[in-house]
Amino acid sequence: MKVTDTRMPGCFGELVFGDSVMREKLPKDVYRALKRTIENGKKLDPSIANIVAAAMKEWAVEKGVTHFTHWFQPMTGVTAEKHDSFLCPTADGGIIMDFSGKELVKGEPDASSFPSGGLRATFEARGYTAWDPSSYAFIKDSTLCIPTVFYSYSGEALDKKTPLLRSMEVLNRQALRILRLFGDNTSARVVTTVGPEQEYFLVDEALWRQRKDLVYCGRTLFGAKPPKGQELEDHYFGMIKPRVQAFMRDLDEELWKLGVYAKTEHNEVAPCQHELAPVFTNTNLANDHNQITMELMKKIAERHGLRCLLHEKPFAGVNGSGKHNNWSISTDLGQNLLEPGDSPSENAQFLLFLSAVIKAVDEYQDLLRASVASPGNDHRLGANEAPPAILSIFLGEELTDILECIESGRPYDAKDKEELKVGVHILPRFPRDTTDRNRTSPFAFTGNKFEFRMLGSSASIAGPNTILNTIVAEALSQFADRLEKAENFSDTLHSLVRETYRGHKRIVFNGNSYSEEWTEEAARRGLLNLRTTAEALPCLVEKKNIDLFTRHGIYTETELRSRYEIQMENYCKTLSIEGLTMLDILYKDLLPAVFHYLRDLSGTECGAAKSLAEQVSALSSELYVNTQALQNVLDGAQSVVGTAGRAEYFRDTVIPAMQEARAAADELENRIGRSYWPYPTYGELLFQV
Ligand code: ADP
Ligand code: MG
Repeated sequence: MKVTDTRMPGCFGELVFGDSVMREKLPKDVYRALKRTIENGKKLDPSIANIVAAAMKEWAVEKGVTHFTHWFQPMTGVTAEKHDSFLCPTADGGIIMDFSGKELVKGEPDASSFPSGGLRATFEARGYTAWDPSSYAFIKDSTLCIPTVFYSYSGEALDKKTPLLRSMEVLNRQALRILRLFGDNTSARVVTTVGPEQEYFLVDEALWRQRKDLVYCGRTLFGAKPPKGQELEDHYFGMIKPRVQAFMRDLDEELWKLGVYAKTEHNEVAPCQHELAPVFTNTNLANDHNQITMELMKKIAERHGLRCLLHEKPFAGVNGSGKHNNWSISTDLGQNLLEPGDSPSENAQFLLFLSAVIKAVDEYQDLLRASVASPGNDHRLGANEAPPAILSIFLGEELTDILECIESGRPYDAKDKEELKVGVHILPRFPRDTTDRNRTSPFAFTGNKFEFRMLGSSASIAGPNTILNTIVAEALSQFADRLEKAENFSDTLHSLVRETYRGHKRIVFNGNSYSEEWTEEAARRGLLNLRTTAEALPCLVEKKNIDLFTRHGIYTETELRSRYEIQMENYCKTLSIEGLTMLDILYKDLLPAVFHYLRDLSGTECGAAKSLAEQVSALSSELYVNTQALQNVLDGAQSVVGTAGRAEYFRDTVIPAMQEARAAADELENRIGRSYWPYPTYGELLFQV
């Protein structure tokens, strides 16, 4: 289902306090001042806040809104809100609907129940939210939502958005330095753009309710492989079932009202797996829109008697879900800086930006890997369906060839005798489809953008984009330092591109990233392979990375350490909840079901029943032993101290125990009568929508 932009329905953006509403509702000078803040990140004149607030309120009340909330993105990874009504008592005992500039600009939710990774203990519990005018206010559930950042009493960021905004600012500064060197004096601002493709599963709500593992953990902890899975590849881009179609229509419409550019909806590889791709926009909006998208997917699924699973691996044996983060850099005049141009100078600039990305990804593989680390995503990265945990860049043959020629001082074309010189030659146009053939690369150049494919489906895109913006800004700042001092600009530029490629070409890999050989080859090249979250996260607090973030003002060291703590703790807590849910299911549902079946078998006077009973009995002994073993390791977790030690304990001790308990249970599932089994099977979950 493709909707072209010119056919965007009338409802588009009707619940957003966007540009056209602002122009209509605000005095001209206020509109212009606000616009400058939105487009150029200029500080907002506090005196206009009251006027903007009044206009917002008037607009919202006309639409039946009675409440407002500061909408923010704490470290939980989901959004948070605290509703207040516009209601305000008057002196004569009446009420008016009021919303002041002060209420628009600053809020004070209690921060003490949000993860702060130690920031709370050292500083005050109080947290503040502050209006982020660069993302539009919108109406959700009859509430006016004000996008905000969230920070502590002492000014430390407590959310995902603050570092993202900081990183966009830093990238803007460094990219502008480069553009000025190329003689561009008209672009006023550079932003990164993102189009995140969101994968998800839909299952029947009634079946979902019967699975405690789905309810508590968002993924199945048990489940034998059904006779049919995804092996026929008949679901990918297949006909969309009416019930799912109705959900998608509804979702698109609600998203459009909120100004989210939902564009493409299709079936994915696994049964009952789907994808939604929006049209790209600036990273701040794309991030907010992705949060709204995930929230609405869940909410609208329920309206259709469905449940939306955003977990990275809801089912073993079929594909998990990811999020492809299409990322590029663009000027305010709309020039895509990762698009090869038509003139030698444009090409030179393109090659420089490309080199910056290559250098950044190679030097900060660890950070990119850490930015997508979560217990859910550990099931995907490195498994057969998703890019491996090893970072590498796919450039495509033509582009790689060009860089090879520049590096070795060879002519590009066999017919040509002249060495390929940056800034002198026009690059050939590479058709987009030749750069997009490789679907196994974790970080692929797709003609005019990079597609970072390692993100998990449930995670906020703020973290990975904060890292991307920062590391590319760092590379650009080093380039600018050198070019600004250069006596001969084009010679220095040529050397820069050549040296960067020479120094970092190990990160370029155009082959099949899913293959065993690549894992070995990557090790020979010295590329990192951080398989689990527990291995990936510690890099956040390594000196080289602390230096990077503090140099650019993205995170203070305290903020970084707190984030490391929060995420490691989240890893352990998630695994603990999963382990405990398993025990709950085993003791309360599975073992009783098995004993029930055995009792009935023993009352059946026939040889077959006796033989089956023996098998089931043997398996149930195994299951019981494994259950007790799981119980023991979970009990043992309480005495393990230290952040890293605990994470390793969960990875090395708890996960294997969970896997063993599952293996025995799944085998039993295949032996036991359906009416005895306490929850819906994979076959029912995957094929009954
Ligand atoms: P496909 O990958 O299905 O062929 P596209 O390559 O056109 O489709 O786009 C995939 C995603 O990339 C979409 O969400 C799209 O909006 C996004 N995208 C396209 N151009 C850019 C860009 N310059 N910056 C960021 N995202 C982009
Ligand atoms: Mg794609």
